Amino acid sequence: MSFIPVNEPLLNGNEKKYLCECIDTGWISSEGPFVKQFEERMSDAVGRKYGIAVSNGTAALEVAMQAIGIGEGDEVIMPTFTIISCAMAVTKLGAKPVLVDSDPDTWNMNIDEIETKITPKTKAILVVHLYGLPVEMDSVLELARKYDLKIVEDAAEMHGQTYKGRPCGSFGDISTFSFYPNKHITTGEGGMVVTDDESLAEKCRMLRNLCFRKDIRYVHDEISDNYRFTNLQAAVGLAQLERLNEFVEKKREIGRFYTEALSDIEGIRLPVPKTEYADNIYWVYGIVLDKDSKLSNQDMTKLLAEEGIGTRTFFWCMHEQPVYQKQGMFEGERYQNAEYLARKGFYIPSGLALTKEQMQTVSDKIHKILGDKN
Ligand SMILES: *Cc1c(COP(=O)(O)O)cnc(C)c1O
Repeated sequence: MSFIPVNEPLLNGNEKKYLCECIDTGWISSEGPFVKQFEERMSDAVGRKYGIAVSNGTAALEVAMQAIGIGEGDEVIMPTFTIISCAMAVTKLGAKPVLVDSDPDTWNMNIDEIETKITPKTKAILVVHLYGLPVEMDSVLELARKYDLKIVEDAAEMHGQTYKGRPCGSFGDISTFSFYPNKHITTGEGGMVVTDDESLAEKCRMLRNLCFRKDIRYVHDEISDNYRFTNLQAAVGLAQLERLNEFVEKKREIGRFYTEALSDIEGIRLPVPKTEYADNIYWVYGIVLDKDSKLSNQDMTKLLAEEGIGTRTFFWCMHEQPVYQKQGMFEGERYQNAEYLARKGFYIPSGLALTKEQMQTVSDKIHKILGDKN
């Protein structure tokens, strides 16, 4: 039986050609010419002045948080239902993630809860757009103005998405992207920080490269890391970016196909196809079992694997992470919607290389399992 992987990227554009150029010219390090080109094209594509490519999306979040000055004792508001990169970028700096619950329909952070979590220590809101629909930005921007807070926008899953027609990745003080192979644009591993603020951009460039002092080499005033991005990664990224619109269209086709094919199944929730501010771009195609379903998302992952279908469970909440519980963080905190999504949500094969036949097989197998067991 052939296995349908949860994600397979599409690399049949100019990727090979540009990679060969790297080999032929000998430019493979972060000093190569493709890096700047990729930074410019990507920041242009999302309507930002500056792009700083880094080694992955997690590094992008770390650099962004450090660049806006988050430090010891500060509080950053973020969803509990997200990838741990978001929380780690904050806790690594000695600051505290302050969590909000999810919206059960869009799976994004519940905007109405943010204001109740603001304290004199709050420095920033980390907006994370999840699974294909952007967060309702107007109210977040309004809160940031009212309380003088910074906004970091995690747009790792949002290449090519817009909010009311304006690109995701262009909101707030600084935004981050990931180019992991399951994102719309991939460079294998990779990430980028984008901003309109020149001094923030300069800070990010320093932070990505060990904070080398400009006047004397090998002398450093601050701690940072080596988060450099290579010419090889940029070569792949440039080729991918040329096809961004096509990729977004393909993701939407996958979304439409599954929604139509799966809508007759009872006891599950499918992604919201559109809100008043955006059409879903289906970073991945998620399915959430009803609360009273006898199955958990882990059961589904197992049952579908037996049928030759790769899936992944949804994120695990930050307040339930053993690493933070051990430190006594988030004690007694409960977030019902997020806990529900983390236990009942999973996503099915939705990579760019997916074929119609594969989608049909996935749908048939889900019908087979949920038709009688749910
Ligand atoms: C993928 C992802 C990241 C992390 O990116 P990596 O490149 O895997 O480090 C951060 N935030 C969100 C929302 C993501 O989906």
